[in-house]
Amino acid sequence: MTDILASFLAGADKSELRSIVYLSQGKLHPDFVPGVLGMADRLVLKAISFTSGTSETDTERLWIETGDPGKVAETLISKKKQMTLFSEELTVERVVKGLTAIQDADGKDSQDRKMKTLANLLHDSGPLEARYLCRTVTGRMRVGAADMTILDALALAFATKEDRPEIERAFNVTCDIGLVAETIAEGGMDAVRGIRVSVDSPVKVMLAERLPSVSQIVERMGGRCAIEYKYDGIRVQAHIGKDSVRLYSRRLEDLTSNFPDIADSLRKACGYGEAIVEGECVAVDPETGFMLPFQNVTHRRKKHGMEEAVRDVPVRMFMFDCLYRDGEDMTPRPYLERRGALESGFRLGGQIQMTTMRIVESEEEGEEFFASAIGHRCEGIMAKSVAEDSVYRAGSRGFLWIKYKKDYQQALTDSFDLAVVGAFYGMGKRAGRYGALLMAAYDQETGRFETVCKLGTGFDDAFLDGMPALLDGTRMEEKPRDVDAEMVPDVWFDPAVVLEVVAAEITLSPIHTAARDMIKEGSGLGIRFPRFTGRVRDDKTPEQCTTVEEIAEMYSMQAHDSDGLSDTGPE
Ligand code: AMP
Repeated sequence: MTDILASFLAGADKSELRSIVYLSQGKLHPDFVPGVLGMADRLVLKAISFTSGTSETDTERLWIETGDPGKVAETLISKKKQMTLFSEELTVERVVKGLTAIQDADGKDSQDRKMKTLANLLHDSGPLEARYLCRTVTGRMRVGAADMTILDALALAFATKEDRPEIERAFNVTCDIGLVAETIAEGGMDAVRGIRVSVDSPVKVMLAERLPSVSQIVERMGGRCAIEYKYDGIRVQAHIGKDSVRLYSRRLEDLTSNFPDIADSLRKACGYGEAIVEGECVAVDPETGFMLPFQNVTHRRKKHGMEEAVRDVPVRMFMFDCLYRDGEDMTPRPYLERRGALESGFRLGGQIQMTTMRIVESEEEGEEFFASAIGHRCEGIMAKSVAEDSVYRAGSRGFLWIKYKKDYQQALTDSFDLAVVGAFYGMGKRAGRYGALLMAAYDQETGRFETVCKLGTGFDDAFLDGMPALLDGTRMEEKPRDVDAEMVPDVWFDPAVVLEVVAAEITLSPIHTAARDMIKEGSGLGIRFPRFTGRVRDDKTPEQCTTVEEIAEMYSMQAHDSDGLSDTGPE
């Protein structure tokens, strides 16, 4: 696949490369730019019926049979094409223009305009073009061109394998794969090396590893490290410009309208002309100033009623990192310097605070600090390296940061964020509804989703009732191409919805496909006694869910404490 992509990208028109790369992922622009393609299936069917001259009833019948508007378009357009003689070429520019018009259409008659724009494109499409056009416009285009695959292909097409890490760095600091593609095609590796962190292009966040005890953390950090409270809120990356501030979530959504007060306070508190900082936004009790659990701050993520939410749910931002200030990329600087840039460049107080931090040199000091974090209603602690090489590693999970949570003391493992890839119809009390879900972790290397458990516990009635609304929009007729599963559910879903799950242990599993053959030939890893925590992780994309590598690592960590090696596998 990488080879095919590489030769295709190498031969593409440079001026179109940016759009081509976005389109190969079913998008029109990088994720941080607002707006997604998601035209309703029925409207697409209307356009297909209109262009192909097939009745709406027949079009819909085919859709019910296949569940995929792309297949419907392909079949019906191919029938019609045998009859038409003339059509205007479908160029990249024309497709992008049409799709953008559809995405942005708003207000009066917008449904009709969307339908007509699509019909216009379909009119000049061949059957295959029609298939991909309809999948793209409904937001279902997945050919498996994950970010990492495209970066591999760019290295092959325009540079060498050895340049791959630098290309990935450029992507990690801009989150814009189209920009990287255009830059390398036009200016080669020199231009790629020139790509820097800048205000208004979000940086992929740095993530933490985990270890099961404070003593192991202090030892791993070389006997000395910084430890911060780990706040239970929403991570925000703030891009503070001269006149405006934009806030991004860790999945690159624009959160500025959810935290207008924080944006405002940050601009006032910031002594730099421009800066990029990160922190955790946490809800606080207006009376006591105490921090409140995560559920409270989620009221700020609603689409409507923001004014009331801003009034009723006061939040504070606890800053923990500085990625950029006044023309200076801070990501290559060590942790203490970055933290120093926050302390010296911001007026702290009120809504804008620093995370509580302490340098520790022993297990005892670490445990004491952990107890104080829990006492202040935090989730646990984040240990951070203070070594010379403690850079901000955009987009990577490593041991420069190590998290340790309260849950680790009760259960064997951290919670998992897993993607829903299938559902089983319920029985007994759950008859007529989905009774259990097939859950998968993400393999970053291959861009595939691999199953780890069948989840049927922790659903309350409201969740069971809401499942179709949550999931059915991503229903697939057959197993999605990027899912590896042996267990066959009644219904397949394109991985889109992420749920938080806790479990008792990780075991070798003959049926689940996560980390297959990695630990034992013929076995994957599964999680036992999984339970839904009630938290839908709509702040995470499926690609940001717990990775197969992390599960393999947790498995080896847990193997120290229990034999955990039963080969019976989870349900
Ligand atoms: P997890 O989501 O469990 O992988 O934990 C990592 C998350 O903890 C980060 O993405 C932040 O949202 C959050 N967090 C809370 N406090 C801190 C802190 N002091 N430093 C870094 N991240 C923090």
